[in-house]
Amino acid sequence: MKPIIIAIDGYSSCGKSTIAKELSKILLYKYVDTGAMYRAVTLFFIQNNVDFKNIDEINSALSKINISFKIDEQSQIQETFLNNENIEEEIRVNPRVAGFVSDVSSISEVRRFLVKQQQQFGIEKAIIMDGRDIGTVVFPDAELKLFITAEPNIRAQRRYDELKSKGKGTTFEEVLANLTKRDYIDSHRDDSPLMKANDAIEVDNSNINHHEQLELILKLVNEKIGSKPNKIIYS
Ligand code: C5P
Repeated sequence: MKPIIIAIDGYSSCGKSTIAKELSKILLYKYVDTGAMYRAVTLFFIQNNVDFKNIDEINSALSKINISFKIDEQSQIQETFLNNENIEEEIRVNPRVAGFVSDVSSISEVRRFLVKQQQQFGIEKAIIMDGRDIGTVVFPDAELKLFITAEPNIRAQRRYDELKSKGKGTTFEEVLANLTKRDYIDSHRDDSPLMKANDAIEVDNSNINHHEQLELILKLVNEKIGSKPNKIIYS
């Protein structure tokens, strides 16, 4: 099987990382969640009171940031580390991270810093990366580009259910407002705005279930790698 790069972009909470993780298990590909990288930088900026408007402070903070991913042996879940500290839970549930991440992601210095690392991860291909600018900026030559969408209310409900299951006190309205605000900032920023690459295939999962989406995407992967993935794991 010839290794390829699979770029997955789309709006907030449309299930990009769930599908990317599943594909990575089936294809035995590396998976990189670039949203986690932007969340990690945001957490560092919050913890260290970095002024988002001060370029010197931003550059100095970036020089102190090391982001890595490790698979937890027991759960087999990939976790994000900031300077060797496990921040997986914190970056998902801390409302300040969700509140500021799109502002931090609009800073060109931050994007340049992270895009360079993301491109390094993909040097040997056999990788699935999800985010907002993977097919347009990080890997414009990716062999397969997917643009995942779903209606905002459906995405907010999924995210709200997820936060509720983790015991986080929030309302559906708050989740919808955060998601709408992030989508707006992400699509309107000057540097690398969220947009569908011309050659990306759009998958709207508002009205299809998880298994149907996986089947559909596996078919697209199959066309690109020229052989059938040998197993389909339904979780
Ligand atoms: O994917 P996730 O929702 O975790 O991403 C968090 C935020 O990180 C997004 O709302 C966006 O502002 C930013 N992001 C980005 N470019 C990427 C991935 C994420 O700007 N490639």
